[in-house]
Amino acid sequence: MKIKESNAAVDEFDVEQIELKGFARSIAEIEWLLLLLVLLYYISPDAQVASPAGLLICMEVFGAFILGFHYVNFNLPHFKWKLTIETWVMILFITLVVWNTGSTESPLLNLYLLVIISSSITLGKAVTVAEIVIISLVYFFLASRTGLDYSLVAYTEFLVFFLPFMLVAYITTMLAADVNYGKEMFKVLSETDEMTGLLNKRSFSPMLNKATEVAVQYSQPLSIMMIDADNLKTVNDTHGHKAGDKLIETIAGAIRDCLRTSDITCRYGGDEFVALLPHLPSKKARETAERLRSAVESTSFDVDGVRISTTVSVGVASYPDEVKIADELMEKADEALYKSKASGRNCVITYSQLKEEANKPVIEQRQPLERRTSE
Ligand code: GH3
Ligand code: MG
Repeated sequence: MKIKESNAAVDEFDVEQIELKGFARSIAEIEWLLLLLVLLYYISPDAQVASPAGLLICMEVFGAFILGFHYVNFNLPHFKWKLTIETWVMILFITLVVWNTGSTESPLLNLYLLVIISSSITLGKAVTVAEIVIISLVYFFLASRTGLDYSLVAYTEFLVFFLPFMLVAYITTMLAADVNYGKEMFKVLSETDEMTGLLNKRSFSPMLNKATEVAVQYSQPLSIMMIDADNLKTVNDTHGHKAGDKLIETIAGAIRDCLRTSDITCRYGGDEFVALLPHLPSKKARETAERLRSAVESTSFDVDGVRISTTVSVGVASYPDEVKIADELMEKADEALYKSKASGRNCVITYSQLKEEANKPVIEQRQPLERRTSE
């Protein structure tokens, strides 16, 4: 029952940062590719460039932007808006290049596809649709330089330009959505205990850290309950593992029924559960624990025609009433749980009771703690 919190728990912000860092790297690679393609066109003998000096300046400024915006910023936190700015700058750069190399007749017009692919994979549907609209407006703007033509031929030319964009955007956003769905499913599965549907220990650690931080920062009460099934080994040995599993599920069901939806509940290990009760002071936490203990005691289930019932022992610790250092809550709740086992099981012991007991004279200390009721 000894508790050791893992500091290595990767919290959600870190996971998002790892993903955004990967996206930022991919977008930088696409930007370099874009610059290289324009440079290759620029040095090709057949290049038709209206203002070679202007195009050279554009390439230099864009290169400096990639170096400055991307690499200087690389170790700072990554945000989607930064990636969005990069794709807007890519659109601006391509527009200047296309402007300089024949407008709507430019052989480099399809470079806009690189922007669409980048944003549909990394920034989602809304930004991609906005970018397609902007690129279409830019196309009309470029076409207007030679006088807008409303003929069927001009309309067909626009469709030939526009449809591949729609198709690429559709396919890549669908693929990205599928990947995201898979990622979400994986996240849920990796954070949930399969048997009970409660959180597992891995996902509980960052939540505990966050709840502790909030409680300390805003001076709010925070209570922790550690719950352990009584004599599960005996149930396993007598009625088989199936009965033991059912017993664990029954306790998880009682925990769900007795606690608020805002409480954080976790299967911490084999037959041990932890509940994090934000905003709940010591007295109320003890009452909740007692309600849970009583609910489990009065629940029974049937396995192969045999009626099985069980009980739980509960240890409770509350910040700041009982424990002054919030980071010690788990450890203190665990000590209280240990005491409830030693006191005969099927009881709730709070950390303050444990301290009172420890301060009593030796003769009195030998007496078992009375079972708590919700008086
Ligand atoms: P105590 O009252 O002191 O808690 O005794 P206990 O028999 O419940 O024993 P303890 O909590 O120390 O150990 C839990 C036992 O529960 C150990 C293991 O055999 C069993 N167990 C752990 N996980 C599962 C599970 O998923 N299913 C079943 N059936 N048994 C499990
Ligand atoms: Mg047990």
